[in-house]
Amino acid sequence: MRKKIVAGNWKMNLDLEGGRKLATEICAMIKEKPLSELPGNPEVAFFPPFVFITEVLKASEGTSGVSVGSQNIHQLEKGAYTGEVAAAMVKSCGATHTLIGHSERRAYFHEDDALLAKKVEQALNSGLTPVFCCGELLPEREAGNHFKVVKEQVEKGLFWLEKEQFEKVVIAYEPVWAIGTGVTASPEQAQEMHAFIRQIMAEKYDKVTAENISVLYGGSCNAQNAKELFSQPDVDGGLIGGASLKATDFFAIISSF
Ligand code: PEP
Repeated sequence: MRKKIVAGNWKMNLDLEGGRKLATEICAMIKEKPLSELPGNPEVAFFPPFVFITEVLKASEGTSGVSVGSQNIHQLEKGAYTGEVAAAMVKSCGATHTLIGHSERRAYFHEDDALLAKKVEQALNSGLTPVFCCGELLPEREAGNHFKVVKEQVEKGLFWLEKEQFEKVVIAYEPVWAIGTGVTASPEQAQEMHAFIRQIMAEKYDKVTAENISVLYGGSCNAQNAKELFSQPDVDGGLIGGASLKATDFFAIISSF
């Protein structure tokens, strides 16, 4: 059975002390109310900036069900790429996940599907779980092209993988018009796209594989709307931006299954 997951994308926020404090506070809440006792038995992942990964791991140590990942990796294994961070480096710090293809990376750093496929490959080669982000722009939805856009992103980014590799992936559907805007996809819109993603996974691989992949929703998900979104049958949790920066809000989201 697929896992329920709530992931916090901290983006370029906080400083070291702030990151340590946030992780410590959330982990204290989880220790008091273990994830295994919450509805859905969710897993939690923090995605801090690279430089905080080690400290956030320390703050999370011993908190069952909590893992840490990076927000990005480089598409190559190693070499003379000043300022870049390889998947194996992230892994060597103790992190287990990485975001790939967040819409901010696609938009501001011009990451295209071919590049993202290479990042997926690096993540898997290094033993990191890729959390692959996809989602349409507002004009694409308004033109009725949202299914086509998401299908292309998922096909080019992921569907070249063998089934054994694909089984290790998590997908996050994040309509770009909902990220950081306060405008959330309706539960129906989220469900419709998640069911579509599951359908194309079943067509490419098989039904069992499609049923086992966690598909998270992201885009202005917060403590108020998480329950309705997470109650949809194909929504397996959330990738949370703004609301992941406040411990009580994030814990409320974790408790929303
Ligand atoms: C995100 O950045 O992945 C995200 C979903 O942000 P927000 O929750 O702030 O919309």
